[in-house]
Amino acid sequence: MTGKDQMSRRPLIAGNWKMFGRRADLSEIRALSAATTDAPSDLELAICPPVTLLAAAVEAAAGSRIGMGGQDCRAGGDGAFTGDVNAAMLVDAGAVWCIVGHSERRQGHGETDADVAAKAKAAMAAGLTPIICIGETLEERQAGQAAAVVQRQIAGSVPADAPSTVVVAYEPVWAIGTGLTPTLGEIADTHAAIRVALADGRQGAEGIRILYGGSVKPGNAAEIFRVNGVDGALVGGASLKAADFAAIIAAHPAAARR
Ligand code: PEP
Repeated sequence: MTGKDQMSRRPLIAGNWKMFGRRADLSEIRALSAATTDAPSDLELAICPPVTLLAAAVEAAAGSRIGMGGQDCRAGGDGAFTGDVNAAMLVDAGAVWCIVGHSERRQGHGETDADVAAKAKAAMAAGLTPIICIGETLEERQAGQAAAVVQRQIAGSVPADAPSTVVVAYEPVWAIGTGLTPTLGEIADTHAAIRVALADGRQGAEGIRILYGGSVKPGNAAEIFRVNGVDGALVGGASLKAADFAAIIAAHPAAARR
């Protein structure tokens, strides 16, 4: 099911540790580094640990294939913003990626599309590659609005001048951490709708990668990776253990081609 134009986009498999992990869990980063030394060079790998572990995770992964990222950033420079972290600080800690607009931020912290676009811009200005998350709720999917919702989120959350290096993660809210996933056909259709929205007025949009996220596990990764338009995955729970995340990476067709 892999499409021809998708072959030219470098697949990315990124882990989101959310608010999990202590220094003892850096052993998982070391184990993943060791397990992925031979991963195909056309696969890009990332982990976004909690900010408390970021600098140590960068050290633990030194010399490996895995780039580290933040899970959020404040749009703007240093200032009197207790508890916040900006993109320049993430870069200083060694990050190269930053998730923005995760549904847990949109829902739990009231972040709007405009907030997400500002964070994506700030991440890019600091030299990070943003992974911009979008996705419909269950009610929206059941009402037949999934395509319209993600297209609206693309229009509002992905800056109009975003280069082709930015990454979009399609994460249906109802699939995150639930063990539920859309059908493969629904994933293909929604990715196609996202690609149409990205192309609207954006130069080089065909190079923007669209990841699928939401209950990706070792057992379903292979079939999801083969869906037309899926350029990789954003993985939550199953990225916490090196063995599971390595199994997901090994399930990518790029690994199978070797
Ligand atoms: C996520 O947090 O981005 C995510 C996709 O979580 P999970 O894989 O656990 O559903």
